[in-house]
Amino acid sequence: MKNTIAIVGRPNVGKSTLFNRLVGQRKAIMDNESGVTRDRHYGYGDWTGKYYSVIDTGGYVHGSDDVFEEEIRKQVKLAIDEADVILFMVDVDAGLHGLDEEFANVMRRYQGKKPIYLVANKADTNARAHAAGEFYSLGIGDGDIFTISSQNGSGTGDLLDAIVSHFDDPWEEEPDAGLPKIAVLGRPNVGKSSLFNLLLGEERTIVTDIAGTTRDAIQTRYNAFGNDFILVDTAGLRRKNKVHEDIEFYSVLRSIRAMEESDVCIVMLDATRGIEAQDVNIIGLADRNRKGIVIVVNKWDLIEDKQTNTVKEFEDLIKEKIAPISYPPIIFTSVLTKQRVHKAIETAVQVYHNKTKKVPTSQLNEVMLREIEAHQPPSVKGKMVRIKYVTQLPTHNPVFAFFCNLPQYVKDSYSRYLENRLREHFDFTGVPIGIIFRKK
Ligand code: GDP
Ligand code: GDP
Repeated sequence: MKNTIAIVGRPNVGKSTLFNRLVGQRKAIMDNESGVTRDRHYGYGDWTGKYYSVIDTGGYVHGSDDVFEEEIRKQVKLAIDEADVILFMVDVDAGLHGLDEEFANVMRRYQGKKPIYLVANKADTNARAHAAGEFYSLGIGDGDIFTISSQNGSGTGDLLDAIVSHFDDPWEEEPDAGLPKIAVLGRPNVGKSSLFNLLLGEERTIVTDIAGTTRDAIQTRYNAFGNDFILVDTAGLRRKNKVHEDIEFYSVLRSIRAMEESDVCIVMLDATRGIEAQDVNIIGLADRNRKGIVIVVNKWDLIEDKQTNTVKEFEDLIKEKIAPISYPPIIFTSVLTKQRVHKAIETAVQVYHNKTKKVPTSQLNEVMLREIEAHQPPSVKGKMVRIKYVTQLPTHNPVFAFFCNLPQYVKDSYSRYLENRLREHFDFTGVPIGIIFRKK
């Protein structure tokens, strides 16, 4: 991860406040309820057109002043290992604190390895800014102290100028742009958390932890099984509620929120229960929202006495229930024994590529006009429908416009014929596609 800033310092100096200011809207959320303990927050921001990532290492050193040297060393080590620029934050309002000195003792060992800036926070007024002088005694940084107010923003521009001067190979665009956003949906107990934990445990590189635009949606970037992707989760609603009867309700709400933020939904089923009404609803909703869909039948290890046709029977049953939706691939997994989890992720990433691809117009016309020639739209009231031209619209989801003389006369059955031919020639596995007719 390049262009990374880490903020270290004792509790309450304002690290989270600065973090939030630096990452703008893309605020991080703690996710401790899920059983997935994340001890740091990540986020992106940009300054003068250069993107950077920020780590708030504060999670190691919690609320009170009851801090152990071990925790301080961990926090500093993490920052030094992962960041390109380290901000050591102190609080001018509170003045020099014993813990600041303990931090400084650890930090000094790394002086010269990476740029470390001493940042005196809560300098909301000029008078307070002058009080920063006492921190020179810490002997950190190259003699400069950046006096800032994380709360009102003063001084942060100068600080950012200094920081980005170390980034000579800037990211020109949001580093997450173009990565598939995947949501894992499903009823309680199908194995969603187990999947998350498997991804975390194995081959882990959480790169970011950023909040989506929808409240409560957390996006975590992974590189697992050779794929870069973002998992969308909704931590806020994940808290195992004391009100047990509400758990079903919350699980649906969570699903919808996560779905809104995603490109592709993995709809997870429990093999021992088969597909249930709520699963069908979720799939229908994902289809209406034009999301890519992958159906994952988990706990496949619990199905005993599997025959050669067991998979086929399962697939047929699912297809029957979700008809007329026919495009989602179905993968049989066991998160417990790690069977085909790799395949499930890879398929979701492939579905994303199918969803975002654009078929060149010339190729589209060459193939589809031949199919139309072979099977003309049925005439209505003696009138012939003639399709002249087809093009994929520049939309976020695949939509194909067929230009013809009498768009109002084209039947749904013919529309399905065209959809099937499109799917046959160009891989749109897992993706809903739109067909529209326009007057030429
Ligand atoms: P952290 O524990 O280091 O992450 O500190 P927080 O960001 O949680 O901030 C601790 C407290 O200091 C909060 O009440 C903040 O509102 C307050 N605070 C943070 N930055 C400033 C600032 O620049 N000026 C003032 N006056 N208060 C601040
Ligand atoms: P969630 O509610 O969808 O997040 O489901 P969990 O991940 O909490 O899993 C519910 C239960 O199913 C746990 O006891 C898991 O250990 C178990 N489980 C998850 N995946 C599998 C699997 O592939 N096979 C088996 N046998 N059990 C599983």
